[in-house]
Amino acid sequence: MSDRIWHTTTTAAAVADRHRDTILKVVESGELHGIQRKPKGRWRIHRDCLEAWMFGRLCEHQDKG
Ligand SMILES: [Zn+2]
Repeated sequence: MSDRIWHTTTTAAAVADRHRDTILKVVESGELHGIQRKPKGRWRIHRDCLEAWMFGRLCEHQDKG
């Protein structure tokens, strides 16, 4: 499971040791980069993006300006 590349909010929460609601909140606010295929759809979070967030950094997809 730790080898997975794409996380759901549930698995991201487990990896980051945070509550799923917290993951949902930050991914919706854009603090954590996530991909949503359609509005209200399920979030997919790349492990590199999750790791960046866990270390308080921006991932490569986020605007650094
Ligand atoms: Zn990203």
